[in-house]
Amino acid sequence: MALLAVLAGLCALFAGQTTAHAHAPATAGAPEGERARAAVVVTYDASRSAEFADEVRQGAEVWNESVQNVQLQPVSAGQRADVTVIADNGWPRAIVSGLGRGTVYMGRIAVNQGYDEIRIAAHEFGHILGLPDRKPGPCSSLMSGSTGGVSCTNPYPNAQERAEVERNFGSQYEALRHQRFDRVFVDRP
Ligand SMILES: [Zn+2]
Repeated sequence: MALLAVLAGLCALFAGQTTAHAHAPATAGAPEGERARAAVVVTYDASRSAEFADEVRQGAEVWNESVQNVQLQPVSAGQRADVTVIADNGWPRAIVSGLGRGTVYMGRIAVNQGYDEIRIAAHEFGHILGLPDRKPGPCSSLMSGSTGGVSCTNPYPNAQERAEVERNFGSQYEALRHQRFDRVFVDRP
């Protein structure tokens, strides 16, 4: 019976994550005091990300593995996404209209210069999740962006970056969720 209850709970968790801003039970692992009652689901639409669709998905998965309080999920057909991802010929950049809301551009200039595509995607999602640039910085920092070096392929946020996102979608979420941002981050080396 206990096993059935656990399975039912897991089904509920995955069902909950398919809807925009649906709430799923929080999983263990977030720092004490930063554990939200439920993970916030931020949906993204990668249908305009062209050749970067797979890297965008992997960049989202990096965040899903790294934090507990928010999860990035592909938007369901017919639903309006919180985040739109677009491939274009400019610099990678993020226009953030609110916490977990905005537009990401997978700019081909940086890709053509050799910067890692998954790191770019994860970095731009970092802006969407409320992080600023931390430049210059080492490759171990996701938000150091291009200053981590063209050879840097690390797509993972460091402990400080993870903690900040956990706070944004944990203890600070009620204060931040309805705020309108007007932030533009252009990731030009
Ligand atoms: Zn940036």
